[in-house]
Amino acid sequence: MNRGEILYSGKAKSVFLTEDPDKLLLEFRNDTSAFDGEKVEQLARKGMVNNRFNAFIMGHLERQGVSTHFDALCGDNESLVKRLDMIPVECVVRNMATGSLCRRLGIEDGVDLDPPVFEFFLKNDQLHDPMINEYHIDSFGWATAEEVGEMKRQTFEVNKILKALFLDSGMLLIDFKLEFGRCDGKLMLGDEFTPDGCRIWDKETRKKLDKDRFRQGLGSVVEAYEEVAHRLGLDLSSPAIGESD
Ligand code: ADP
Ligand code: UDP
Repeated sequence: MNRGEILYSGKAKSVFLTEDPDKLLLEFRNDTSAFDGEKVEQLARKGMVNNRFNAFIMGHLERQGVSTHFDALCGDNESLVKRLDMIPVECVVRNMATGSLCRRLGIEDGVDLDPPVFEFFLKNDQLHDPMINEYHIDSFGWATAEEVGEMKRQTFEVNKILKALFLDSGMLLIDFKLEFGRCDGKLMLGDEFTPDGCRIWDKETRKKLDKDRFRQGLGSVVEAYEEVAHRLGLDLSSPAIGESD
């Protein structure tokens, strides 16, 4: 699928139109950002690793019955996806306390959250992605009550599936962020699932294997992403073109 006009250039991905009006090309770039785009660096191989990682996770979710926008890998850094009408809300699930939850509520880092905590944030960098609730979403018309229920249901379902996947390879899924959109009136998982948007710790050592390595200046960021990929059995060296997941 050929790249058409650029539709949107985000902090880590660029979105291109294609000859099919219902499909977009997502380009995963090496740009890595934190603190609402205040800290930005280029990390070699990150775009390729995240593109493959995302394809692997989306494929796994599809096989477990979750509808996603993912269609096919189109090269090292690009994937073809269904064009969604994105809902401007981030869905976060937390299995263990860390990050903004600890800062906001004074909870000790690493405490188990059982049942897991669900949070909505507004996708708005200028406002620093403020936390919102279902009433804001309803009142401002960002999504219907039915869509809110579906986003929560599907995010918890993704948590169940992926917690087990990571645990099978000796890793803890600490928290993650999902974005959803609409396609033909149906809610569908969009955007990405990569170590840029989740937290993964080694089960035994609690070594951080996600973007906190970049946020906290711990180094070996892409190496950690590659370690997660290898532990999940993902071969990052095989050709991407023509693969379907
Ligand atoms: P950000 O916008 O946070 O800087 P990215 O750099 O990841 O994030 O940019 C990707 C953009 O593409 C995001 O705004 C995301 O909501 C949007 N997007 C992801 N998947 C789709 C899709 N299937 N259809 C339309 N837009 C999408
Ligand atoms: N997250 C994300 N994009 C955002 C905000 C958060 O992908 O704009 C992810 C983040 O990587 C983590 C989870 O959502 O896995 C919860 O993030 P948190 O609220 O703790 O934010 P942070 O500590 O990064 O400010």
